[in-house]
Amino acid sequence: MLKLPNTPISIFTVMSKMANDYQAINLSQGFPNFPIDVRMTEIVARLAKTDIHQYAPMAGYPPLLEKIAQITSDHYHRKVNPSTEILITAGATEAIFATIQAFVQPQDEVIILDPSYDCYEMPILLSNAKPIRISLKEDYSSDFEAISQHLSTKTRMLILNNPHNPSGKIWTENDFIQLEKIIENYPDLLILSDEVYEFITFENKHISINTREKLKDRSLIVSSFGKTLHLTGWKIGYLIAPENLVKEVKKVHQYLVFSVNSLAQASINEYLNVFHIEEVSKLYHQKRDFFQNLLKETAFELLPCEGTYFQTASFQNISDENDIDFTKRLVTEFGVATIPLSVFYGNQTDLKRIRFCFAKDDEMLMKAAERLLIIK
Ligand code: PMP
Ligand code: GLN
Repeated sequence: MLKLPNTPISIFTVMSKMANDYQAINLSQGFPNFPIDVRMTEIVARLAKTDIHQYAPMAGYPPLLEKIAQITSDHYHRKVNPSTEILITAGATEAIFATIQAFVQPQDEVIILDPSYDCYEMPILLSNAKPIRISLKEDYSSDFEAISQHLSTKTRMLILNNPHNPSGKIWTENDFIQLEKIIENYPDLLILSDEVYEFITFENKHISINTREKLKDRSLIVSSFGKTLHLTGWKIGYLIAPENLVKEVKKVHQYLVFSVNSLAQASINEYLNVFHIEEVSKLYHQKRDFFQNLLKETAFELLPCEGTYFQTASFQNISDENDIDFTKRLVTEFGVATIPLSVFYGNQTDLKRIRFCFAKDDEMLMKAAERLLIIK
């Protein structure tokens, strides 16, 4: 008997392969196409000649743990203890997996807000627990009434993603106030807050759970240097939580991977001495505006994008096809790969929306726009 009979191949693999097969412009899987900073390539080359190549400590390379504590203090005024309240992981993906495995038991319920990133459900199923998938509203804001109706003593965890992939929506102060209210009577409920795009927001500032006094003691916050430093392939992420929670996640982490890439951790640590994290939002703000401007004349209707490097759009004026067929045709006929949004839902929807990744150089975005302009 198969353990995971219904787990499909990730849409990111499917669409990137299709983009390669058809030599399409790949605006599907979220990764930058521009070269990494030469200061970083120099750091890596220099550190590669040192003795950094053996196992890093289980919880992370100590100077990088200190840096993460400093970033958390600078940006969110939260003081975390680098040796007990942070864990460096193999990307945010491992942090999410290890957190769910550490806390979720058979028959527990875990709330996921759809459309949701694809790596939340599988670890819940592996724990023999039950994912409860609740749709966000059409504008991607949270439906607190629906969440509240599904809360019970069985709810072990609520997974939030802010800024949100795929919609780019960010949580407001009022959202947090509502959440704080509805979970007040469920002291055993944990929050897994996926904040991998925390440093990619535009007009409105990201509100991290790190700043929520009423939530932070029951929250595990996940981030990723892949997004912040344009290094998705390095798979270095981290988790911040109170010591009693991090301690449990470490138990899984030590037998899942034990520790993560030492050269990458040491290089990121040095790079953070010269790189200003604030630059990331500036870069993507320009790219978002540039891309939105290019798409203005197309038949796509653009939805708001407050953060992340994803732009969602409706194609309801273009076609009656479902989004999967439409995105396949976009690749085969027009040479542009995107992501259909229905795959981010537990129950199939037919919202006729797709996601573009704009973490690309201007030339690539312009080429893609030229191809999208001829679609009527
Ligand atoms: N969460 C979200 C919302 C994501 O978009 C991604 C994709 N990078 C991840 C988690 C996984 O991050 P990482 O590549 O660091 O594992
Ligand atoms: N997070 C990336 C995205 O949303 C994909 C990561 C992956 O390929 N698993 O496109």
